Amino acid sequence: MDDTQLDGDLTRVLVTKEELAARISELAAEIDRDYAGKDLLLVGVLNGAVMVMADLSRALTRHCRMDWMAVSSYGSGSQSSGVVRILKDLSTDVTGLDVLLVEDIIDTGLTLSYLVSNLRSRGPASLRVLTVFRKPEAARNPVEIAYVGFDIPNEFVVGYGLDYDGRYRNLTSVGALAPHVYS
Ligand code: 5GP
Repeated sequence: MDDTQLDGDLTRVLVTKEELAARISELAAEIDRDYAGKDLLLVGVLNGAVMVMADLSRALTRHCRMDWMAVSSYGSGSQSSGVVRILKDLSTDVTGLDVLLVEDIIDTGLTLSYLVSNLRSRGPASLRVLTVFRKPEAARNPVEIAYVGFDIPNEFVVGYGLDYDGRYRNLTSVGALAPHVYS
């Protein structure tokens, strides 16, 4: 689905489908170089990272393993609570593997901090983070993010895996949701 099919639900498009594809290809090339000769495991955070996992993994020119975690970081509102619960854990033993945690978006970084300390305690050979989108608030969080797709302003965005109330994940571009949709 593209933004022309949304009938005014977005105030504007922040990143187009073409810009997403180009940036994911650049990140894949960096990862190819950085992980040469290593046993790479991509860990996608459900559900938002589904699109980037599919595109990034196929843009790589090397083998990778893929696994998934699901966590709840938000209550019913759109503010991060800092309370993170694992809803689905990995099937893979990450001990000795080079793990790249793949996130859709980092806002406060509270979800990320929890995931990084949880995964680090399992003894991977290395652990890095990739996020498609990073909001300004994330800069105040000490967790290092090795690969960032786009730095975006502090607006609520949807598309490319990111939802509002379960919808808009299948939007090919990413845009800011119009207030009339959630008010
Ligand atoms: P954090 O813990 O970094 O504040 O929040 C991270 C999570 O909040 C993301 O994985 C995502 O589920 C949600 N989130 C934060 N900002 C946005 C946004 O602009 N749009 C959507 N759809 N989800 C967001």
